Amino acid sequence: MAVEGRRDDWLEVRTPCDTIMWVDGRTVAFTPTPTRPGSDRGRPGGLADAVVVLDPGHGGPNRGATGPGGLAEPAVNLDIARRAADLLRTSHTVDWGSGVIGTGQGTGAVGTVWLTRTAGPEDADYEAGLLFRTRVADMAGADALVSIHNNADPDGPYDGPGSEVFYSVTSDESRRLAGILMEEFRRSFSTFDIDWVGDTDAGAKYRLRSDGTTDYYGILRNAGVPAVITEGAYISNPAEEALLGTVEFRQAYAEAIYRALIRFLTTPDPGSFFTEPYERFVEAGRGDPLPTCQIPVQP
Ligand SMILES: [Zn+2]
Repeated sequence: MAVEGRRDDWLEVRTPCDTIMWVDGRTVAFTPTPTRPGSDRGRPGGLADAVVVLDPGHGGPNRGATGPGGLAEPAVNLDIARRAADLLRTSHTVDWGSGVIGTGQGTGAVGTVWLTRTAGPEDADYEAGLLFRTRVADMAGADALVSIHNNADPDGPYDGPGSEVFYSVTSDESRRLAGILMEEFRRSFSTFDIDWVGDTDAGAKYRLRSDGTTDYYGILRNAGVPAVITEGAYISNPAEEALLGTVEFRQAYAEAIYRALIRFLTTPDPGSFFTEPYERFVEAGRGDPLPTCQIPVQP
């Protein structure tokens, strides 16, 4: 649940099904919005004051893409998000030349790391609407919202990882984060020698609605904070589905997200691998909760 407002003891909350309800604030435990000295980059608290929200894509009846071997997005995306959260929540050393992450105190922990889908029934495999996901990030005052996905329907074989990161056309910071994420995906994934697939315009890119001015994806359109959608690998490609089934690759995916967020939060790096997307005519699946959406009950 995300708290939208309060009146006396009552909390107005948005459910993962994107409905609004009122609950008695005296009967529930809730996590207060992180407080910090300021919302600008360069604040004295550094990473300790930073707020990151990770959004594992899909869940419940909303399955996203499924590989030919049956591996589906919700559990894979959640596992990657949890691994990235674990990395962000503790100090590490990072060899920025090689990308190797070790134990140590060189890079501090990020103060607040939230997941939009975490505890709950069926190991957090429940549906969550796009507005709910963005409201969690907005109300946390997040420095970044990373929506974690894997892809389907490539154009064909690709010379290396066909990773994509979508950014919002209305946010320079979203675009910068997408470019940094692309650099870290290439670094993490290029060590895996398999038959990759991809779109000819793979890279850091945007997608517009037919009005030609607003973002096509609801997460990017609705978020009030810098948001991106990662499409790290093609779960529809048997070779990449097999990779996504391994701990090694999911950890490499999480490490790419970790390094990208640390760079985004602590450097002015501009990112790269920006591409000009070609026009898409096929409608992607909508992110609205199904009419059967069930509000998860905490175990
Ligand atoms: Zn997806």
